[in-house]
Amino acid sequence: MTSYKNFKSVPNVIFGKGSFSQLDATLIPLREDKGVIVFIIDHFFKSSPLPFFNFSPETDLTFFVNTSREPLTNDVDSIVQSIKNQRATSPAAIVAIGGGSTMDMAKAVSVLLTNEGKAENYQGWDLVKTRPIYKIGIPSLSGTGAEVSRTAVLISPQKKQGINSDYSIFNQIILDPNLLETVPLKQAFYTGMDCYIHSVEALCGTFLNEFSKAFAEKALSLCQQSFLNTFNNADLMVASYLGGQSIVYSEVGICHALSYGISYAFKIHHGEANCIVFNYLEDYYPHYVKEFQLMLQKNHIEINKLSPPQYQITDSLLEKMVDITLLMEKPLHNALGPNWRDLLPREKIKQLFLRML
Ligand code: NAD
Ligand code: ZN
Repeated sequence: MTSYKNFKSVPNVIFGKGSFSQLDATLIPLREDKGVIVFIIDHFFKSSPLPFFNFSPETDLTFFVNTSREPLTNDVDSIVQSIKNQRATSPAAIVAIGGGSTMDMAKAVSVLLTNEGKAENYQGWDLVKTRPIYKIGIPSLSGTGAEVSRTAVLISPQKKQGINSDYSIFNQIILDPNLLETVPLKQAFYTGMDCYIHSVEALCGTFLNEFSKAFAEKALSLCQQSFLNTFNNADLMVASYLGGQSIVYSEVGICHALSYGISYAFKIHHGEANCIVFNYLEDYYPHYVKEFQLMLQKNHIEINKLSPPQYQITDSLLEKMVDITLLMEKPLHNALGPNWRDLLPREKIKQLFLRML
């Protein structure tokens, strides 16, 4: 008998320009009995302060995340240790304010505060056993869908992989398009393309179903609207949410599998790594690769080559990139069907990477 996924989603969503101001009210019940609130915030907001919110220095803790690189499992372990060292009781809530990196960091911290051991032990599917700390996600950059997804993507010494679990899902999100106003266009494009590619990979995948398709189609059209017609932060915020929902009930595809190899090898952020790869996937997504190239042109974005001296690919690094790609079994199955291993052998993956040099 077919076993269908049991779709878990964020139960509470606040959406609207200025809705960030409702964070305080959301925290009131959690602060009862002096509950500690841990804020995990993108380092951008250190020098560009957020609109007022009621930080309580005697109980709350704040960690600014260095998002010049993607989050490491070690970063998660050290925040968890620092919280445990500074506070005897478990926090009442974790609040994440930032892009995908910050939201994933916060999701992983909430899991690791109640589950023994190191973050790298939970990279994989459904390895988390204990209910995590309540968490609130507030995106300041849109596209990854991390605000709704059931994964917290991390880089460990061995691999780039998510903590895929229903326990990684936020309990509450606040979607305030005003928080996106400071994002530079290039960054908005890279992260926005993550959403575009989520939608394309869902729509072209073998796991597609009517449920996931409805989310993906609307997410795709909102991305097309922003990057081919009129750029709009509220549209992108909704697109990110819908694109994320879409892949929760289907999967990503080849672009994501290869892009994980690139991010692992060269520490290139996910959105940019996706763009580098997608540009060469005309054999798999012909119509959408053409449309993507039009969006590049319209937004005056040039994709970097992975060339020396900045990027050095050795044979052993190339093999490792292929290994990382092949860990993405579900996305590759979604993209190519059950015979994906025959259709995408190691040699073919290497050839694709070598085209990007
Ligand atoms: P990011 O969070 O890495 O941030 C990129 C840059 O944007 C940083 O320099 C940050 O300081 C800046 N920034 C963020 N908000 C800003 C604002 N309001 N104004 C100005 N600058 C701002 O970028 P991202 O693309 O959102 O996230 C990428 C990460 O998300 C990767 O680690 C990737 O693996 C992960 N990801 C997770 C999922 C998921 O479902 N969990 C899905 C896709 C990607
Ligand atoms: Zn993605």
